[in-house]
Amino acid sequence: MQNLDVCIPLPLQIVFDDVGWWSGADDSRQNGPYRTGISRRHVPADYLAVAELGRRLDMRPQAAMILCEWDRQNILKNVPSATWMGKNWDNSVNIGLQLDEAAEIIRSNSKHFEITLHGLGHEFWHKDGTFSRAEWADDTGLRSEQEIKLHLDYFFRIMAMNDLGGFPKSFVPCAFKYAFGGNNILTRLLRESGVEYVSTAFGCMKTFETPQFKLFGIDDSMFVAERGNEPGVAWHSIGGDVPEKIIEGCICGLHWPNILHPDPERNMEVVERWVKYFEAHNRIFSKILARDTFHHRAQLAYCSLTDIKIKDKELTLDFSRFFKLFDHHFHEGMTLRIKNMNVCEAVSGDARLAVVKDAGSDFAGINIIFDDCRQRQVKITLK
Ligand SMILES: [Zn+2]
Repeated sequence: MQNLDVCIPLPLQIVFDDVGWWSGADDSRQNGPYRTGISRRHVPADYLAVAELGRRLDMRPQAAMILCEWDRQNILKNVPSATWMGKNWDNSVNIGLQLDEAAEIIRSNSKHFEITLHGLGHEFWHKDGTFSRAEWADDTGLRSEQEIKLHLDYFFRIMAMNDLGGFPKSFVPCAFKYAFGGNNILTRLLRESGVEYVSTAFGCMKTFETPQFKLFGIDDSMFVAERGNEPGVAWHSIGGDVPEKIIEGCICGLHWPNILHPDPERNMEVVERWVKYFEAHNRIFSKILARDTFHHRAQLAYCSLTDIKIKDKELTLDFSRFFKLFDHHFHEGMTLRIKNMNVCEAVSGDARLAVVKDAGSDFAGINIIFDDCRQRQVKITLK
């Protein structure tokens, strides 16, 4: 058959960094945190902006959270490296009803708001009271095992005191300072805490080994995705314009203020602009918005590691390369797209298929779920 165009679209995940601060002030010149750098306090409506973006796009963006200003009991006194106040940590200025309100927004929108581990205070305060960037590592290397354990433990304690659910499955290292390979302690402790997915800018992490692919790597069974530097919006830009350029990589990395408005009552005007921006990505044949973190992981792996052969109306998907890296299929399955053919039905004896066609697009999608988690080849007949 001629002109039959088939692809496994590259997934796009949306990540918001530094969600969780209540003060917006950038105090980095006074040995304090950068926070979000905006000139107003954050309010519960700012959490709703993340959830609303997810709801409108039918997906679950990652909110990479900083939790020190959610500490209702000042327990971070016990972790002096976590904040600029050290042992004298006092969060009373942030303890109030807005915590309950924001926690309720996060809980009731859990389908459209994923809590991603980012950190406690974002930087690391040394014994002399000065800080270095960032919380989990700096340019000289990773923090000690004892410190990393303490920070992970207290992150979860603050989640628990605010009833925010189980330990996060995903992680964004502060200032993207991370390590890949070399049996490193951070990856091991994250994995032991239940984290399965990391995204960071590969150019900022220390590489003891090179990630296996341009857009992701597997380190000690941890999936590490390349965040890149798109779309390059200034980290503290609030209520600004949405970029025109389409994102080429697999992650749109934003900071929380980027979807907010200086007047929180107008947050949704900014959200609306971003919704249109992401919808335009989803209309591109070779791109698809990830439904969530695990769909992103699966689709990224299949997109990079599946070979497709086309003969007449029969497609053969070959997963030989996939099984060199993974020992079973992801239960989220994968999406295939087909252009230049009016596909009404697709059948396969090897997997469960669902044809989806969005009005207005010139291609059809086929969602594939694998019944046999070790299926090495899937044949699909189009009708
Ligand atoms: Zn950050």
